Amino acid sequence: MSVTHSAFDPLATVEEVRVYAIAMRTRFRGITVREGMLLRGPTGWGEFCPFDDYPDAGAVPWLAAAVEQCTGHWPAPVRDRVPVNCTVPAVAPDVAHEIVARSGCRTAKVKVADRPGSLAEDQARVEAVRSALGPGGAIRVDANGAWDVESAVRHIRVLDRSAGGLEYVEQPCPTVPELAQVRRRVNVRIAADESIRRADDPLRVAVAEAADVAVLKCLPLGGVHRALQVAEACGLPCVVSSALETSVGLAAEVALAAALPELPFACGLGTLSLLDGDVVPASAALRPVDGFVPVPAAKPVPDPALVDAHAPIDPVEVARWLARLARVGALLQRR
Ligand SMILES: [Mg+2]
Repeated sequence: MSVTHSAFDPLATVEEVRVYAIAMRTRFRGITVREGMLLRGPTGWGEFCPFDDYPDAGAVPWLAAAVEQCTGHWPAPVRDRVPVNCTVPAVAPDVAHEIVARSGCRTAKVKVADRPGSLAEDQARVEAVRSALGPGGAIRVDANGAWDVESAVRHIRVLDRSAGGLEYVEQPCPTVPELAQVRRRVNVRIAADESIRRADDPLRVAVAEAADVAVLKCLPLGGVHRALQVAEACGLPCVVSSALETSVGLAAEVALAAALPELPFACGLGTLSLLDGDVVPASAALRPVDGFVPVPAAKPVPDPALVDAHAPIDPVEVARWLARLARVGALLQRR
């Protein structure tokens, strides 16, 4: 291999690379199989798992995060467990009730605005979630930017009543100015998610007028340290949410949640159950217990047998990921 002396090669110390493909238990974010790569470096394993709709440039922060995981160190935790929410997809009320009741979580995040005209179904789902949680639990809804300002205001008021009070509404509209308009007209907190993740420079997103809460995902933001900078720069209470990683990548999200000075809301880190498998042994898997994910003392280490078991059957998939890693690695090196 030729050596470049002037530029830092972020992948130079990566010793092993594996590709995984794990079926999803429920279709989520339009995908049925979660794919990604595991990278072994001098300080442990990292996970590189940008979704397919991320172009190479958009995947650069994901790789920076994976490199941080396997070559760097995380800040010291200030807590030993992280409260998590359960996630209720756009399902029928009886299914929603069961998901919440089974989860052991005191906070539920409910997907709404799944399709145009879904308000009646959203109301029924939110009511079922309230009945499962009881009056003491917290309900947040996520519209993933589906509404315009007028429908956001109308739907939030209705859903806030159905829920008996919403903790917050996540990304009601696509843009920051729209969030600001909605925020002035409703009495429910607004959380910015996609607005922070998809910003060209998340450190410069002006969300103070547009949101009360920031949702952070450290893999798409470029790592734990970078996400902590974003948290400080935005000056809002933060919720850490996963990007549907295996326990390897999830450990980075947990490390971020564990290091944030304040953590006033439950985090979206109870997502391992959405995958039909994991790459670390069950004893090290980052699954919630009674609504909390424990902060691990060390980075989880994949079990070679599980990594083998979750390798893609089609060698074309492995080649595709290796090529993607090479391209994104070249971009990261030039950054
Ligand atoms: Mg969201």
